[in-house]
Amino acid sequence: MKMDDLEKLFLQYPLLESICQGVEVSWENKNCRSGSMPESFTMNDILDAEYRLIRFAPFLYQAFSDTRSLNGMIESPLIPIPLMKKALERSKNERITGELFLKCDNQLPVSGSIKARGGIYEVLKFAEKTARNAGMILPDQDYACFCEQRFQEFFSNYKITVGSTGNLGLSIGIISAALGFRSEVHMSSDAKTWKKDLLRSIGVQVIEYEGDYELAVAAGREKSQLDPFCHFVDDVNSTDLFLGYATGALRLQTQLKEKAIVVDEQHPLFVYLPCGVGGGPGGITFGLKLLFGDLVHCYFAEPVQAPCMTLGVMTGLWDRISVFDIGLTGKTAADGLAVQRPSGLICRLMTPILDGCFTVRDERLFQYLQLLYQTEKIFIEPSASAGFPGIFSTKNHLKAGTHIVWATGGNMVPPAEKEAYLRRSDTDL
Ligand SMILES: *Cc1c(COP(=O)(O)O)cnc(C)c1O
Repeated sequence: MKMDDLEKLFLQYPLLESICQGVEVSWENKNCRSGSMPESFTMNDILDAEYRLIRFAPFLYQAFSDTRSLNGMIESPLIPIPLMKKALERSKNERITGELFLKCDNQLPVSGSIKARGGIYEVLKFAEKTARNAGMILPDQDYACFCEQRFQEFFSNYKITVGSTGNLGLSIGIISAALGFRSEVHMSSDAKTWKKDLLRSIGVQVIEYEGDYELAVAAGREKSQLDPFCHFVDDVNSTDLFLGYATGALRLQTQLKEKAIVVDEQHPLFVYLPCGVGGGPGGITFGLKLLFGDLVHCYFAEPVQAPCMTLGVMTGLWDRISVFDIGLTGKTAADGLAVQRPSGLICRLMTPILDGCFTVRDERLFQYLQLLYQTEKIFIEPSASAGFPGIFSTKNHLKAGTHIVWATGGNMVPPAEKEAYLRRSDTDL
């Protein structure tokens, strides 16, 4: 970005001054308007994704034992966390007026993070399409057949590729291996070693890059476009990923009903979602807005060094601005959120419906992660704890209603890493 343009930007958006200094900020989106939805997808698109996941449930049931208690559906519980609520109130010396819930995507079956929604959906959709085109399945067939050897052989002709900082690669690699696809995960070299090791152990080809995540994605995209037997999962532009994530909103609506949690004008819903490129939180926000309209308020959480969505939506530059442009490093212990440039698609979709964004310093991620473990005995990874400070930074703690912190990952983290996260103190950072 040119110097002149940057100077203008700083004049126009004074908050940039704090953002570029790595200070925690809270940004309210003035373009978020009552009753407005961006022109794009409809509830039918989300339902189409949901029905596809239901069709695949018999396969997932067979292939992944951890989906069996939910009959092959990949879903996580919504649970009250009253002890964490008390601890948060004590640490801030302020009351939280509403109820506090955790959406436990840290416990999602198959790959233990929010990526088990979008990533797995996209690969299943590709598998269905190629199998149908080859005449291997009929629309109302029992999809348990996808476990059969003939499918494994058929899919071994195809390759799934993805560029990823970690969790997306895990979800894509795991589901691809289960279906018999060959798969290739392009990773930046700062991705966690255990994730690379795990992928290699199930036969996934991991390709590492010096340099950043964007480079890794670009390399993956380029290589796969030359190959008709290759499907590239595009973290930044994929509508399949988006719709897979969006089904999470339908599931949440069902869970709220089951728990008799009323959502009305006196009891609005406040949802705090950790954000990387934006697909996961964006899909869920989009679905929730379709379902609840003005009764739901969604906020994205980002690390102070990687507030790409805040930058993109606030300035209206979308993916034409990167955190590097304003001198930030993009480096954070929240590896799922270590993204320098947001998805332009998601920026566009979020502009009229996102209530705001806030940023979090890395040491606070560990404080919340540890507090949650001490109070509720729930382990989540650093990225997944970014939502907690949103309750206070938006002043929503003063309002009645239901607060949902979306815990986006954690169960795949190996025991030794968990221990280290739980012991980590400010001075280690
Ligand atoms: C990927 C990820 C996110 C953010 O999702 P995006 O689609 O990149 O915005 C949040 N938390 C965790 C644990 C993740 O892996």
